[in-house]
This record gives sequence, structure tokens and C-alpha cells, in this order.
Amino acid sequence: MYVNNKKKACEYCNIHSEEYTFDENVKEEALLELIDCLNASKSIHGILVQLPLPKHIDEKKIINAISEKKDVDAFTPANVGKIMIGDYDFLPCTPAGVMELIKESGIDVKGKECVVVGRSNIVGKPQAMLLLHSHGTVTICHSKTENLKEVTKRADILVVAIGKAKFITADMVKKGAVVIDVGMDRDEEGKLCGDVDFESVKGVAGAITPVPGGVGPMTIAMLMKNTIKAAAL
Ligand code: NAP
Repeated sequence: MYVNNKKKACEYCNIHSEEYTFDENVKEEALLELIDCLNASKSIHGILVQLPLPKHIDEKKIINAISEKKDVDAFTPANVGKIMIGDYDFLPCTPAGVMELIKESGIDVKGKECVVVGRSNIVGKPQAMLLLHSHGTVTICHSKTENLKEVTKRADILVVAIGKAKFITADMVKKGAVVIDVGMDRDEEGKLCGDVDFESVKGVAGAITPVPGGVGPMTIAMLMKNTIKAAAL
């Protein structure tokens, strides 16, 4: 679904896209060889590796092989480091999409209590950093956080990225809070849903993003933005 949506968005933006699919037993060298080739290509400006990779592949090694200037997902250590110091070419697409949603909704992060649930390298950690750059007071929660509900209830802005269907319920949310649901999960009936129990939380939240239709499309929009930026670098 992710890959198809990205391809459609490229078509919409008139960006040429190429997809390389491999057998799950693919050798690491084959992936590295392809990345080398794409790094050197004058007609390719952005490269993304769709994660997760099969267990026998060293994900770090593959990501590190992507040229910093074509790293439109902003996953390489060089780009991650630049985000830490607030001097970057690319922002990771999902957290950047969340920030854009917040900004376009007229919500000021400055001084707000921001809680990010999830600390993955691709969502939670960079999300916390971007909220911090916008002058939020940021707390990051994870699976070892004690009294999670007490922490999430403090949030003026709550961003959830854990990968557990409908995990955040109304009793975990402060009245009027902005709730941003990054999760892409399946419910008991196999229907796409988020990490937030939308039906119960919408009665408490001041603003809330739906799944599907919230953060997902923003992630793709940010990918297009990064790719166009990469072409101009
Ligand atoms: P991930 O790498 O699996 O990380 C999940 C994080 O959630 C971990 O930090 C984990 O804590 C934390 N966590 C798990 N259970 C928890 C619990 N009970 N309480 C508190 N924290 C808990 O996942 P991810 O890649 O960040 O993705 C998260 C979700 O976002 C998934 O549903 C994914 O499909 C979705 N996603 C959506 C988009 C989009 O464009 N909409 C993009 C990327 C991801 P530990 O670190 O302690 O294990």
C-alpha cells in the first residue's frame, strides 16, 4: 500500500519513479550494488529503501550506503545528525508531515506540553526533536514507560506511533488536546486503523487526525517535497 501510494504521488507530481523488488532471500551485495548504481545515476535524485528488510540483511549497512544527498527519507546517520542540530536538507517524512499538519491547523507548539509515544528512529525520536525545535516541552514514552496514562494525560499535543491498534483510549487524553495518530494498524476485522481509538478519543480531543487519511498522505507529500529538493541540490 505504501509503495503504491508513493508511486501514484510521483505520477501526480510528474516525478519519474522506478521500483526495484527483490526476492526475500536477496543477498546484501545485490542491494548494495543497486544503491551504488542509483547513487551514481544523474537521472535519479532520491532513493528510498522500503523497510523493514529481511532479517539476514544488515539494515544499517544498507541505509548507510545511500548517498546523503539522495536520502529523501532522511534515514542516514549524516542526515539524522543534521536534524539534531537543526541544520538539515531533508526531514524524515512522517515527522515532517506531522509538523506540517500542526502548522497548517494554526496550532502553536511553543511552550506546549508535547508527548510522543514511541521512540523509533524513523518516527518517535525525530518527531520529538522537531517538536523541540518548535519550542515544545517534550516527553518521549516507550514500552518501558511507567504510568503511561499519567504522562499522556499531561499532553497538550499527543503524537502516537507505537503500532498497536486503538491503544490510546479517551481516559488517556487531556480534554482539548491535539491528538496525532501515526499508527497504521489493522483492527479485529482487518480494517485499517490507527494507534488511537478514534471513536472514543474524538469526544475528548480538541483536534484529532483520522486513520486512514491523516498522517499517511502527509508522509507521502513530504517525500515528494524532499525529492524535489534533492533534485535542486
Ligand atoms: P516501531 O519501530 O515498532 O516502534 C514502536 C515504538 O512504540 C517503540 O519505541 C516501542 O517502545 C513503542 N511501544 C510499543 N508498545 C508500546 C506500549 N505499550 N506503550 C508505549 N510504547 C510502546 O514502529 P514505527 O516504525 O515507529 O511505527 C509505529 C506505527 O506508525 C506503526 O503502526 C507504523 O505502521 C506506523 N507508521 C506510519 C507511517 C505513516 O506514514 N502514517 C509511517 C511510519 C510508521 P520500545 O522502544 O520500548 O520497544
